[in-house]
Amino acid sequence: MTTALVWFRRDLRLTDNAALGHALKTANRIVPVYVYAPEEDGDWAPGGASRWWLHHSLTALSESLAQRGSRLVIRLGPSLEALHQLIRETGASSVCFNRLYEPARLTHDRAIEQALTAQGVHVYAGHGHLLIEPWATQSQSGSPYRVYTPYARSARMRLVASSPQPAPRALPLSPSRLISLPLRELGLRPRIRWDAAFDRHWQPGETGALRRLRQLSERLPNYARDRDRPATDGTTHLSPHLHFGEVAPQQVWRAVQQAKAEVRTGVLHGADVLERELLWREFAHHVLHHYPQTPDRPLDKRFAKFPWRRSKTLLTAWQRGETGIPIVDAGMRELWETGYMHNRVRMIVASFLAKHARLDWRQGARWFWDTLVDADLANNTLNWQWVAGCGADAAPYFRIFNPELQSRKFDPQAEYLRRWLPELGGLAIKQMHAPWRATTSDLHAAGVRLGHDYPQPIVELAKGRAAALEAFQDWRSTLHTA
Ligand SMILES: Cc1cc2nc3c(=O)[nH]c(=O)nc-3n(C[C@H](O)[C@H](O)[C@H](O)COP(=O)(O)OP(=O)(O)OC[C@H]3O[C@@H](n4cnc5c(N)ncnc54)[C@H](O)[C@@H]3O)c2cc1C
Repeated sequence: MTTALVWFRRDLRLTDNAALGHALKTANRIVPVYVYAPEEDGDWAPGGASRWWLHHSLTALSESLAQRGSRLVIRLGPSLEALHQLIRETGASSVCFNRLYEPARLTHDRAIEQALTAQGVHVYAGHGHLLIEPWATQSQSGSPYRVYTPYARSARMRLVASSPQPAPRALPLSPSRLISLPLRELGLRPRIRWDAAFDRHWQPGETGALRRLRQLSERLPNYARDRDRPATDGTTHLSPHLHFGEVAPQQVWRAVQQAKAEVRTGVLHGADVLERELLWREFAHHVLHHYPQTPDRPLDKRFAKFPWRRSKTLLTAWQRGETGIPIVDAGMRELWETGYMHNRVRMIVASFLAKHARLDWRQGARWFWDTLVDADLANNTLNWQWVAGCGADAAPYFRIFNPELQSRKFDPQAEYLRRWLPELGGLAIKQMHAPWRATTSDLHAAGVRLGHDYPQPIVELAKGRAAALEAFQDWRSTLHTA
């Protein structure tokens, strides 16, 4: 009788799971294990919203395993100690897991792999969190890519079509005497119930992920247009499912190819755009792997001395959605209420923080880390640095999004604003984007008292923009003289 431990981490699925597939081929008894060891994520242990997701995703995985005659064994870290203990308890001869690529995780995994192998345990490390492992591509000069387009070109050439691995119908029984920690003891759910609305928006776990995946072909015909419309449910909402590995990127890629093969109007363009987004995710992991310092330090080292401002007042107003700039506040409230924010609005709120308010992008990234259900170190870091102008392929700092114009362009009927800022609902559409432009009588008729029902802008947009450009020029001149 050979026993394998299948060590689940952020691959909380039974379909297309390389580690599980390998264990099923090589062992006749399988012990599914989850070890909770947030300290092994270094400075980036999961934030509050991610822990909420994890709680529900582990519940879903436990149920799927139970339906197949198996059982998830939950233990506390350190991972190596927990695995050792389970090997002793079960006599397992192999440990199968899927790789993760965050720098702290990779370091731990390598140490664990070495320690287990040294003791004669067979270790299988599967690939399935990314389409292409971060070290599999390099530029012609042999260095890592820092620009998306050549990265994506090279990545596309390395994509290998994979065939689907269905979830097993049944799993060999794991020993019932094994002690498993009750999930609630991990304390993943918040004590103060700020997560009340999350259930309405999300279904964590593989079933929810596959449901979203099935909706993909309906989304594709309009994806290229709707993905920029925050009021429209136009994107896949796969990001937290991808982060927790409830669906593999290979499954998503295959679904896109399948939709392309069916060729309906608009599908091809939508599919191309979605493929590009999926490759941004790959690029983000490539950059994080090769520049592991970037969650805390700008890739463009010159930005280490950029004169970010320090202001608790501005930061708190931004976090609470009380800046007085409707599109920014709507986004921040969507984030708080649902654990998610539309990509276009993420760019707007991030730009407002780093440019109009000139606060350090790391403060924004930390807030996202705690509040996003899809908080992902690679994606969050790359995108924040992109917006702040200090990262890979970044928008230059002097290119400053005008939140009012962005709002008018991408939420023309102010539907998104109306959803998240009901206090402005009495205003006409054009005034909702910029209530400070409304006349006193319009405000009065709409029942809005600026500074009372809704804040006055905490930063005047034109002044904030001018101050950001000035700071940028000053900083640039210090670089030349340094
Ligand atoms: C400041 C900022 C911070 C962000 N932080 C995160 C984060 O922590 N986690 C996260 O997953 N995404 C992050 N993003 C990227 C993007 O906003 C989300 O991936 C997207 O909104 C998720 O919604 P969706 O699944 O419906 O996306 P879709 O449009 O349906 O895209 C499909 C998938 O492609 C990937 N993707 C899409 N856009 C990007 C992008 N710009 N960069 C990398 N991958 C992308 C995601 O995995 C996404 O699920 C951030 C963007 C910004 C501007």
